Amino acid sequence: MIRAVLFDLDNTLTDFMKMKEASILGAIDGMIDMGLQLDVRVARDRIFAIYDRVGIEYQNVFDIFLKEELGEVSPGILAAAIVGYRRVRDTYLVLYPHVRYTLTELLRRGLRLAVLSDAPALQAWLRLHYLALHHIFEFVVTFDDTGERKPSPAGFHKVLDFLGMPPGEILMVGDWPERDMVGAARLGLPTVFARYGDTKGVTESGADYEIDDVKELLGIIERLNAREGG
Ligand SMILES: [Mg+2]
Repeated sequence: MIRAVLFDLDNTLTDFMKMKEASILGAIDGMIDMGLQLDVRVARDRIFAIYDRVGIEYQNVFDIFLKEELGEVSPGILAAAIVGYRRVRDTYLVLYPHVRYTLTELLRRGLRLAVLSDAPALQAWLRLHYLALHHIFEFVVTFDDTGERKPSPAGFHKVLDFLGMPPGEILMVGDWPERDMVGAARLGLPTVFARYGDTKGVTESGADYEIDDVKELLGIIERLNAREGG
């Protein structure tokens, strides 16, 4: 019997990489407008190379970028980057199709909902508020709650403690097999691979189920629960 659903956040509920890509291009437009002389694609690739080094959540990526490109951080160009980034981010941070419908429907059916994210707490909560999902989940476990990323069992243990139910009753949904699927499966949670959020071309997810649309969760849970109920 599935009685709770545990969601990864980025690239599972929200199309994080689409937002990131578009926001960076917005920042680059702003910097070029302020005098930066660099091809857009070259600038884009250099900024993402910095993210590869320091992590995609790093908040001062333009400081590093400008220091590397110009030898100094010009406040005028930095401001252009930040404003360009934020303007685009606010319109591009969106949910995948059918996320709101599916979450609402899961709640209506009496399932408990939670989030386990590797993002820093503030960033995760900012995204939940932007997306108006902040009242949907019973609780949200982030990187800051344990200091460890999936597939570490630490976050999953926190979730199990909160929910107080056997792992077999909690369905894990995520886009990153090595983190979301492996971490959950080790503790006995059934797993669903969100193929629609995959940006890495995953062929073998190792998950119990794979979905191309988040609303397929409803049918999976229905079938699992009918099997046991009947
Ligand atoms: Mg993810």
